Amino acid sequence: MNNSENLCNSIKDELEALLKEEEGGACTAQILLKEPMRLHTTFRVGGPADLFVTATPSAAAKIRQYCVKKDVPFLVVGRGSNLLVSDRGLHGVVLTLENDLEGISVEGQEIMVSAGITLAAVSRVAQQYGLKGLEFASGIPGTVGGGVVMNAGAYGQEIRDVLTKVTVCTKEGDLQEVPAEELRLSYRKSIIPEREWIVLSAVFSLEKDDPEKIRSRMEELAVRRKEKQPLEYASAGSTFKRPEGHFAGKLIEEAGLRGFAVGGAMVSEKHCGFVINTGDATADEIYRLMMLVREKVRESSGILLEPEVKLLGFDGGNHS
Ligand SMILES: Cc1cc2nc3c(=O)[nH]c(=O)nc-3n(C[C@H](O)[C@H](O)[C@H](O)COP(=O)(O)OP(=O)(O)OC[C@H]3O[C@@H](n4cnc5c(N)ncnc54)[C@H](O)[C@@H]3O)c2cc1C
Repeated sequence: MNNSENLCNSIKDELEALLKEEEGGACTAQILLKEPMRLHTTFRVGGPADLFVTATPSAAAKIRQYCVKKDVPFLVVGRGSNLLVSDRGLHGVVLTLENDLEGISVEGQEIMVSAGITLAAVSRVAQQYGLKGLEFASGIPGTVGGGVVMNAGAYGQEIRDVLTKVTVCTKEGDLQEVPAEELRLSYRKSIIPEREWIVLSAVFSLEKDDPEKIRSRMEELAVRRKEKQPLEYASAGSTFKRPEGHFAGKLIEEAGLRGFAVGGAMVSEKHCGFVINTGDATADEIYRLMMLVREKVRESSGILLEPEVKLLGFDGGNHS
């Protein structure tokens, strides 16, 4: 065993012991060593995470505290549907919250939901209770936590339209309730990453409507998505943000890049705003294609596209 493996093993042992003690018995978190991130991202690429941990919200707070105290790099992810993780992988602890459907409760027109639950699941529950407002989120393949962080949106609506408040775990491991207005939610942005908070749960405020009407709106949006988006390929959705007054896909198409490829990474022929993994792409190929697209779009239009996808483990990315 080399030094890095020894270190990871001892972090795993310490975390398991800590969680056993805190939770009075069995350790509820699952801790995997050198877990390939390609199994946890919708792009289906990405090297190993030193420790990939799936935990309950209460265990997450303890793990966060441990990492700060021991100076272990820490990152929280959801379904990896907006991530490009480098082939080298990620150091330290990569935490994801359990997708436990028991973490959804409904009171009147409010839905309280644990952050590891998928947006698809919470919008389905809202539909069953005759609550409208989350239809737009039913086809977004991420979690509630990732959706809040990204202020995910589609078809003219976004998370900030329905979010009332969240409970977060601070860097120090304290739990705090934060009203939605204080999250400064804007186009695919919030203050959560800069504060290094973990979103543990969220409350959505919805409106009453006929469940059948809600269902048919969800179905209509699913059809539109299927028609327009290359859902048959691995991707992370829109690769670039929409520059003000333009559409990224249109600028990419006008730069002559429809179907342009680097190895197994390709600008989708169906929707130029999506970079897809045609099967065996590496993260490096996707990254190089993204950088080439940026360069060519800048040459042809003068506009510099900003990635919407979070780049992790690349130079200049937000986690090394
Ligand atoms: C086919 C497809 C279609 C898509 N369509 C849309 C769309 O219509 N609209 C849209 O907005 N997006 C869309 N996306 C992108 C993506 O699904 C959203 O950005 C989604 O909100 C990301 O959620 P996630 O749980 O996968 O988060 P991840 O991708 O895992 O993480 C995204 C960011 O959130 C952070 N994060 C995740 N969970 C937490 C947490 N609990 N606490 C703190 N930080 C956290 C991560 O660190 C990271 O910075 C699409 C993606 C795909 C693959």
